[in-house]
Amino acid sequence: MKKKGLLIVLSGPSGSGKGTICKRFLEKNEKVGLSISATTRAPRDGEVDGTHYFFIDKPKFEEMIEKQELLEYVHVFDNYYGTPKKYVEDKIESGDDVILEIEIEGAMNIKASYPDAVLIFVLPPTIEELKRRICSRGTETMEQIDKRLDRSIREISEIEQYSYFIVNDDLEYSVKELEAIVLAEKNRVSRYTKQIHELYQDYENGMKEYSK
Ligand code: 5GP
Repeated sequence: MKKKGLLIVLSGPSGSGKGTICKRFLEKNEKVGLSISATTRAPRDGEVDGTHYFFIDKPKFEEMIEKQELLEYVHVFDNYYGTPKKYVEDKIESGDDVILEIEIEGAMNIKASYPDAVLIFVLPPTIEELKRRICSRGTETMEQIDKRLDRSIREISEIEQYSYFIVNDDLEYSVKELEAIVLAEKNRVSRYTKQIHELYQDYENGMKEYSK
């Protein structure tokens, strides 16, 4: 049975640890592809172009929008972030799963254009812990931290837009939960109804003959 890959969307507040879950999940599931976003944000210490993001300038980003090379994009925290279309579409067509680590607005755009996408929201154990994680990164100013916390709380209030949630308390357990969600989604009948009927078409026709 030919199966398309899954489009997995992982969202959650900045500092929820979704990046760490994603990294560990990818280490354990080598065939799954990670969509690398394009952004106009400056790289943080240790971030590598082409690995963490494609760091590009505003005119280049706007050119990508113009040429419809992005699956979705948003303007948040004074910067553009977007998902390059080609990688995701090619990977899914070839039958491999792809994971997108994006914020809620982008996730809603994906949900509208790819209703089959699997939307998962990562929650921090508590807001205090979230704040501690963002502050300990030491990469944002106090004003930027406040903006990120505000946005986090707004994002959490819209969690019902997602199908699944993971509370990121224990990394290994969170990864296990993510794997379980992906595995279950791969066996959802509605995803493969047509293929299942095609596979058993002759028998199903035979049954009809038999019951005449
Ligand atoms: P950060 O600046 O912390 O790397 O990312 C800020 C937010 O933008 C995070 O919630 C991150 O998941 C989200 N983000 C990263 N890439 C994309 C993207 O391509 N599209 C959308 N919609 N959000 C993204």
